[in-house]
Amino acid sequence: MTVEFVCEKCDRDVLVRLDENPDTRVCQHCQDSAPLSLSTSMAKGEKVDRCLVCDRIRFYVQKDFNPKLGIIIFAIGVIFSYHTYLISLVIATIIDFILYKVLGTVTICYHCRAIYRGFEEDPNHHGFDHELALSLVEQEESKAGEATAGAGPPLAGNEAAQ
Ligand SMILES: [Zn+2]
Ligand SMILES: [Zn+2]
Repeated sequence: MTVEFVCEKCDRDVLVRLDENPDTRVCQHCQDSAPLSLSTSMAKGEKVDRCLVCDRIRFYVQKDFNPKLGIIIFAIGVIFSYHTYLISLVIATIIDFILYKVLGTVTICYHCRAIYRGFEEDPNHHGFDHELALSLVEQEESKAGEATAGAGPPLAGNEAAQ
């Protein structure tokens, strides 16, 4: 099991192995560390129920498939299709299909986009939901708005400055 997230200090991707139930997460780049506590379910490699990075509980799942790679394979198939009488296109489609089938799913935190690999898939987690994501952002913003009430309108005058 691993979790992959963006370091708050240096903004780079950090990968932390969770198999040995570590109690801290350390950034490989800037050595920034933070305490880590896995839930009972997550310590056993079962369902992801609480984000280790931001403590939120909303997740979505997606195939562990790089969409860019899929497009590149397909594009190569298209480029060679004229000379190969479309055979390359068929092969590219088959490769994409097999990759998609073979690859597992990853669980991703709606809030901080931390990626969890190697855990059991929770049937309650679905694909990315734009409406849910938006409503979560709005909740965050209203909370932030309350905290900074009276701080003045944000972004005002931005367009004039450009
Ligand atoms: Zn860092
Ligand atoms: Zn998170």
